[in-house]
Amino acid sequence: MNRTELEKIKIKALEEHIPIIMDETLEVIEKYLKEKKPKKILEIGAAVGYSAMCFSEFLAEGGNIDTIERDEERIKEAKENFKKVGLQDKINLYEGDAVEILPTLNEKYDMVFIDAAKGKYPFFLKESLRMLSKEGVIFADNILYKGYVMSDYNKHKQRTAVRNLREYIKEVTENPNLETEILEVGDGLGVSRIK
Ligand code: SAH
Ligand code: MG
Repeated sequence: MNRTELEKIKIKALEEHIPIIMDETLEVIEKYLKEKKPKKILEIGAAVGYSAMCFSEFLAEGGNIDTIERDEERIKEAKENFKKVGLQDKINLYEGDAVEILPTLNEKYDMVFIDAAKGKYPFFLKESLRMLSKEGVIFADNILYKGYVMSDYNKHKQRTAVRNLREYIKEVTENPNLETEILEVGDGLGVSRIK
């Protein structure tokens, strides 16, 4: 991959306030990726493709990434970016709403990165669990949402998001088949593995 291009893409995304993965969150995921070398990764929420490009460095031989994005401008930019860095054959972009696309997928994924609409996290979890391989891991970004999730915050327009993030945390921690950690890195990262 072309690292100079990747760095440019990162800077542009930050300047445009596109919520790309935070460095410390990426570090945690990279540690896992280095050890596991997954064959297939599913990402929900591509934006301009930054996190997917970072993950791709650690894929097993012949591995690939499926990522989903619904915003037309971001889709266009992500596709251009994948070409720029030379990853168009390793990263497959599904264009549209993940709520509609996920039920049509039937693959096994070694890692899932949930990073899209917070109000849909419980649904994304259900779909991810259906497709997670035995040794798989689900990472959920922004799970603590600026601290709202763990406070008594219950107001205004983020209310649905907060309720659904709490629901996600409840489901992953109470599921007897999962082992879950909620890490306070970045905006909060949920890490759930099959036991
Ligand atoms: N993973 C990216 C950042 C993703 S930002 C990175 O770290 O580089 C979240 C993205 O999810 C936004 O671009 C938004 O358009 C997209 N998104 C939100 N809800 C979605 C949905 N239901 N289906 C598809 N994309 C969605
Ligand atoms: Mg995020």
